[in-house]
Amino acid sequence: MVVSETIFSKIIRREIPATIVYEDEHVLGFNDIHPQAPVHVLFVPKRPIANTDALAASDAEFMGRVILAASAYARTAGIAERGYRLVMNTNPDGGQTVYHLHVHLLGGRPLSWPP
Ligand code: 5GP
Repeated sequence: MVVSETIFSKIIRREIPATIVYEDEHVLGFNDIHPQAPVHVLFVPKRPIANTDALAASDAEFMGRVILAASAYARTAGIAERGYRLVMNTNPDGGQTVYHLHVHLLGGRPLSWPP
């Protein structure tokens, strides 16, 4: 499923404000508006796709770029050595609220498990 319009599309187009902390050709990273940890950044592909359930085999490189952007930023932010968590919520039981695929980067404090 391709989603054409969400709040994240508006952030990508700079139509609504966000604290953007990472950008490359394919991916934007911005602070979550309701942070759950000292570092809580959302990494979104500029090409909209709803979630992991909508991925195709041909999206392998595309998805890899999103993960690599998050891990690169985690090193830059100085949280990689102590550790962090990448989360992707999919569909209602997964807790997804914005249907534009995104990776949550959470870190800067010990994170409990299970969540
Ligand atoms: P989900 O629940 O879909 O996995 O995550 C969506 C995330 O987007 C939530 O953590 C929520 O706080 C964040 N969010 C929703 N609206 C906005 C917004 O307008 N700006 C920012 N920066 N984050 C948002």
